Amino acid sequence: MRAVVYEGPRQISVKDVPDARIERPTDVLVQITSTNICGSDLHMYEGRTDFEPGRWFGHENLGQVIEVGDGVDKVRVGEYVVLPFNIACGHCKNCERGLTNYCLTAQPEPSMAGAAYGFADMGPWAGGQAELLRVPWGDFNCLRLGEDAQERQADYVMLSDIFPTGYHATEMAAVEPGDQTVIYGAGPVGLMAALSATIRGASKVMVVDRHPDRLRLAESIGAIPIDDSTVDPVQAVLDQTMGLGADNGCECVGYQAHDPSGDEQPNLTMNRLVASVRFTGRIGTVGVFVPQDPGASDDLARQGRIAFDFGTFWFKGQHVGSGQAPVKRYNRRLRDLIAAGKTEPSFIVSHELPLDRAPEAYEHFDKREDGWTKVVLHPVG
Ligand code: NAD
Ligand code: ZN
Repeated sequence: MRAVVYEGPRQISVKDVPDARIERPTDVLVQITSTNICGSDLHMYEGRTDFEPGRWFGHENLGQVIEVGDGVDKVRVGEYVVLPFNIACGHCKNCERGLTNYCLTAQPEPSMAGAAYGFADMGPWAGGQAELLRVPWGDFNCLRLGEDAQERQADYVMLSDIFPTGYHATEMAAVEPGDQTVIYGAGPVGLMAALSATIRGASKVMVVDRHPDRLRLAESIGAIPIDDSTVDPVQAVLDQTMGLGADNGCECVGYQAHDPSGDEQPNLTMNRLVASVRFTGRIGTVGVFVPQDPGASDDLARQGRIAFDFGTFWFKGQHVGSGQAPVKRYNRRLRDLIAAGKTEPSFIVSHELPLDRAPEAYEHFDKREDGWTKVVLHPVG
């Protein structure tokens, strides 16, 4: 089968690799029809991880079931399914508590932060930017889709990661009806957080970024765009909230917001969130801060130890939530909102391309080039 294979920093190629196949009775084999490039793939693509050359990417996957193991009894051949990026067994101590983002069976070592397809430090699992994907514990890890799945793949594929991740940010930030919410980052994740805040009934959603095309997308769903290359975003949020600050905020940027050259970082999104969220407000962080640039000037920065204004955070009595999203916790409800025509996360999709065009797509998306917001690759179909 063909797959998007990592060769080294900013070097990938689409080439033949061994076919994915059923290995255990609980496996499901999926022919991948849609698979996204994610901001998280860039951590590996840019060479900031120890992702091994020869492995292939792809954790945002949707496709059609073509074979099931003998131990699979819910998922059927022919069905379209979307796969949460977290791989989970469904029965360990963490899965039982709904923490499928930290499954103790699928992550080979307790020190790992969960398991995922095609990902550095998240287990040996192959990725789905390929024609076929083996889904372990298939009954647990496949979210079955209805008859409209084939035509609406660009909406449903967002359930594999970024829509539930954006939703998780707003859940950790405890966005409630009527709230005024600020989102830092208008990448795919930030835009999904903005959409989620709207779904939860926020009265005002403010989105901070510096890319006009991404800010326009935020505006297209009713959010207020704030361009931090032209205005002070903290002041802009205070102006929008009668000086009180937003009720809550989401961090959807991650390592890019960190300047490893020093501790004084007025531009760091965490500092800006602390300053632009009100007293006792909540902050949900889903942006990934580790690993940092391997060229960072000090070891602590490389390990993701960043300095932020904890004093003001404490003084204001704020709360923060963090980590990978437990996709399964939200994706059934979000699927049903899509199916009912109540929400269309595909508004962020800028390109739908065949798998062979992955190298150029990565190049454009990595540079955050104008108009390259979210790429869906189609290995098959
Ligand atoms: P992206 O890189 O396309 O988007 C990030 C956006 O932040 C860009 O538009 C960039 O212009 C903007 N930005 C940079 N510095 C900024 C600043 N100081 N203030 C405001 N905006 C700034 O990536 P994405 O796909 O949207 O992903 C965002 C982050 O979320 C990544 O770190 C990714 O790894 C992470 N992520 C986390 C999870 C999870 O489960 N927690 C899941 C998916 C992605
Ligand atoms: Zn992703």
